[in-house]
Amino acid sequence: MDSACVPDFLGLVDGGAHLVPAHRLALLDDDPRQEDVARVTRAYGVAEETARRLARQRRALDSARLERDVLAAWDWRCGLCGLAPRHVHAVDLLCSVRLKTAPAATVRELEDTRNAVSACTAHGDALRRGLFGLATDGRVLVSAGLAADVASEPTVARVFGPGVLLATVTTPELLGASYAAWHADHRFQRV
Ligand SMILES: [Zn+2]
Repeated sequence: MDSACVPDFLGLVDGGAHLVPAHRLALLDDDPRQEDVARVTRAYGVAEETARRLARQRRALDSARLERDVLAAWDWRCGLCGLAPRHVHAVDLLCSVRLKTAPAATVRELEDTRNAVSACTAHGDALRRGLFGLATDGRVLVSAGLAADVASEPTVARVFGPGVLLATVTTPELLGASYAAWHADHRFQRV
């Protein structure tokens, strides 16, 4: 096997390059699970170092696929403000934000598109850090700290204020209620 290329079992004509730009793949890259490395070692009889790299590539591509699926489901727009880039790569301005995260979430939950929201960079980071939360019906909750900044600081209000932020996410029917509830309980900064 050519250790310099993505293996055939991925079944991708261009190694997945069409899924997401290379710099985004690098961001998505992380340590593969040991069982994935072992599976590749068993299946292809390659050395552990090679298996680790292949498993990492596979994981990055799976993450890229999942992100693309989430963004596509949300019509390539930020669920929190509606921002919808149409002339640049959507993945350069949008990301998927997982609501229930590891280690609490199972692998199945981590791969469930209902466990993620498409969001623009600023709103995605705020959601990830719990400055926003989501009610199970998709209403957007704003933390007390962020609300105080919105009320007192025009520059914050320009990005996070009610004139920008939607009262309810664009497509609440895509949200898994249990995931929103987990995020609200474990991530959302209520005070
Ligand atoms: Zn947004």
